[in-house]
Amino acid sequence: MTPKPIGEMTPKLTGEMTPKLTGEMTPKLTGEMTNEELWQTVLAQIQLSISPASFATWFRQTSIVSQENGEIVISVPSSFSKEWLKSKYHKLIGKIIDEQKRGVREIKYIIGVPSLIIKPVPDRKINQTPSVEQLDFQELKVDRDTNLNPRYVFDNFIVGSFNELAHAAATAVAKAPGQAYNPLFIYGGVGLGKTHLLQAIGNEINKGSAKKNIRYMPAERFTSEIVNAIRNHQIETLKIKFQRIDIFIIDDVQFLAGKEKTQEEFFHLFNSLYEKNKQIILSSDRPPKAIASLTERLRSRFEGGMIADISLPDVETRIAILKTKISEKKVEISEEIINYTANTIQKNIRELEGALNRLITHQKIYNKPLTMEVAKSLLSSFAAVSPKISSPKKIVQTVSDFYDLKEKEVFEVTRKKEVVKPRQIVMFLLREELNYSFPAIGRVFRGKDHTTAIHAFKKIKNEINKSDDFAEEINLIKKKLYGL
Ligand code: ADP
Ligand code: MG
Repeated sequence: MTPKPIGEMTPKLTGEMTPKLTGEMTPKLTGEMTNEELWQTVLAQIQLSISPASFATWFRQTSIVSQENGEIVISVPSSFSKEWLKSKYHKLIGKIIDEQKRGVREIKYIIGVPSLIIKPVPDRKINQTPSVEQLDFQELKVDRDTNLNPRYVFDNFIVGSFNELAHAAATAVAKAPGQAYNPLFIYGGVGLGKTHLLQAIGNEINKGSAKKNIRYMPAERFTSEIVNAIRNHQIETLKIKFQRIDIFIIDDVQFLAGKEKTQEEFFHLFNSLYEKNKQIILSSDRPPKAIASLTERLRSRFEGGMIADISLPDVETRIAILKTKISEKKVEISEEIINYTANTIQKNIRELEGALNRLITHQKIYNKPLTMEVAKSLLSSFAAVSPKISSPKKIVQTVSDFYDLKEKEVFEVTRKKEVVKPRQIVMFLLREELNYSFPAIGRVFRGKDHTTAIHAFKKIKNEINKSDDFAEEINLIKKKLYGL
């Protein structure tokens, strides 16, 4: 019997989702999982891969309602979320389910009336069934006016030498908005607390007696508001709305790169708020000078106040973070497992939390303390990531992504500066990171001979020696390459 999709709404599993029985997968839990257990496990892993906001938005009020004959039915609250899950998260969901359960052929989504979603009766003895709310669904309380999530406060932000400066600057700004540092620009890698810190400033100011108009926005949202307003001929109305802001918090400004119209509007808004002494707070995954295709005038605005970076937390801090979260969640996990977790996940606090959630979910489902052995297997997917692995493809991807180019543009025959430099960097990294010979590098760029590769290598090497800024740029690219 060949499996066939039921109706057009039923996405078919793609090849990637057919059960793979190879090494890297998460160990299968023994026995059949109930609908709820399976979904909780899936949610715990999805949380690791997507932003807290997306998680809260798209996975709220979802559940598995049946898993029969290789078909899994997921109930979702609305047709809108159904479309989103299907188009954005279907692969991810499929992949995770596939790691947990064999023989799944299809995943369907149905729109469930929440009260009619049948609560499965767990067949294991569970005295406290973990509900979706116990995963981080406090996200839902995001304030409509400010966009702030009350969960991000200074009180639960752990400070270590890696984020001390950024934290100090943030508290100073929260105490005296518009007066301490303006703008405040915080940068650092993924999952290291930028959003938390930015929102903590907003929440702290919000607590104060002076009523301030605070607005937190991811840069992507700013862009889409601008684009929509232009399309709907409402840009003037939007500008007036923005003019009323006292504290403007823009997260992940690297996403403004290449969006010229948005940058222009942002520049004017920035200036007028700044002139009125309104506080502006920005974050990015890299320093202003390393954001490609950012207009010069905006870059110099970003650099005009205080720039603070967040680097990587040391192991003591990672342990402290885990302990704080464990006590917040009122669960118990042994010291040994805490240490193991902190040593396994070193570069990303979001991942650290995700790992902890995975441990906690497991402990709740089975209702007994975790053993070290189980903890190790639950975290095996984290331990397996070896940072020192790269490939020519990864290098091309990382470099073109960094400079906002399409991958194929790097290979184009052109002397355009925007392409030549990234191409030379690719050549340099092939040599330096992968030990490629110069003729081999030439072959990667079909038609180029080894002298071109030698020239590129020398040129980049020289420039690194000459300019600290450029050296930092290459450093950032390398970090991205290794997912640091
Ligand atoms: P970023 O915006 O840099 O990608 P986030 O601010 O979203 O990172 O942080 C990822 C997760 O780690 C969040 O849940 C956040 O609360 C948590 N986190 C980050 N830094 C800290 C810290 N210093 N103390 C406690 N929790 C932290
Ligand atoms: Mg963030």
